[in-house]
Amino acid sequence: MRQATVYIDRQALQYNLNRVKQLAPQAKVVSMVKANAYGHGIKDCLDALKQTDAFGVACLQEALEIRELDFEQPITLIEGVFSLDEMPIVLAHNLELVVHHQQQVDWLIAHQDAYIAKNLKVWVKLNSGMNRLGFKITEIKAVIKQLQALGFNCVLAMHFANADAEHALNDAQIAQFLEIKQDCAPILASCCNSAAIYKYLELHFDYVRPGIMLYGASPFADRDVHDLDLKPVMRFTAEIIALNSIQAGESVGYGSTFIAEQAMTLAIVSIGYGDGYPRAFVAPNSVVIDGQFVAVVGRVAMDMIAIDVTNIKVDLGTEVELWGPNRLVDDVASANGTIGYELLCRLSNRPKRKIV
Ligand SMILES: *Cc1c(COP(=O)(O)O)cnc(C)c1O
Repeated sequence: MRQATVYIDRQALQYNLNRVKQLAPQAKVVSMVKANAYGHGIKDCLDALKQTDAFGVACLQEALEIRELDFEQPITLIEGVFSLDEMPIVLAHNLELVVHHQQQVDWLIAHQDAYIAKNLKVWVKLNSGMNRLGFKITEIKAVIKQLQALGFNCVLAMHFANADAEHALNDAQIAQFLEIKQDCAPILASCCNSAAIYKYLELHFDYVRPGIMLYGASPFADRDVHDLDLKPVMRFTAEIIALNSIQAGESVGYGSTFIAEQAMTLAIVSIGYGDGYPRAFVAPNSVVIDGQFVAVVGRVAMDMIAIDVTNIKVDLGTEVELWGPNRLVDDVASANGTIGYELLCRLSNRPKRKIV
């Protein structure tokens, strides 16, 4: 059988959740499990995350998957509802809403009695310069005061545009957040994603919202998961399905982009962009076999890649790590001109999934 396999290490996931708790001992943890737990498979991840205080997802469908698996923790819909007709479902499943524009506030107020009776918090989003979602600093105070006066329990929420880097906008965002937090006190507060959890220990407040760190990938370009003391949760593998010897001047794959300078041995591996392995590399890429780095040569095809095994002993069936504890997904991503987040999320459903 064709082997392209995603292994999910639940102990690593638990380890990483505990890292969040060590770093942010006073805060509650909202584990971000949007996009099918960053491509790890929500079903396979929830058990390992059962010690989390809450979950965060991007839409109703994702929240309902969690409820169908019988997890009762609070769930925040980080973009809120998209239409009024979602409100009864929100209430039926005890979901918490972000509100980021006035229409959402109106929809919420239309259901205020049921929402408040269920003790659901409402997350009011400040747009402090990310300029995707949220109320501007000039508008948000009135929104919060109105909701508070109606009896809603509000969480002031914000998202950093540059938590992973040094950037002048960070201080400006923090200043806006602290100003509103003070003006609307007492109010719950939340502004830290993974990068900010590491970087701003003083801004953890009531809820932290880790995503990528739970899965053992790095939010930073210049700090890898070992520096951060995190464990990769996913190990993505395939196997060697053919061996080829070629001579100097011969090429491999579509476009004949790689031309051998000397005689070499190629192994063909059962992985391609049809599995979610990326194609458009901007720098040399490699895989790991038995702890050794092995270069990928030529173009990635839908179902196959070629690797240079001239100097190592391999056989048909030898396992190849595409990313995981040895070949970090963040390093594959950077050779591909992207970030680990994207590669994890865009796996296809062709690889088999296994829990370890
Ligand atoms: C996705 C998301 C997070 C988690 O971000 P990471 O960088 O993966 O830690 C936190 N907060 C919000 C609002 C998000 O959308």
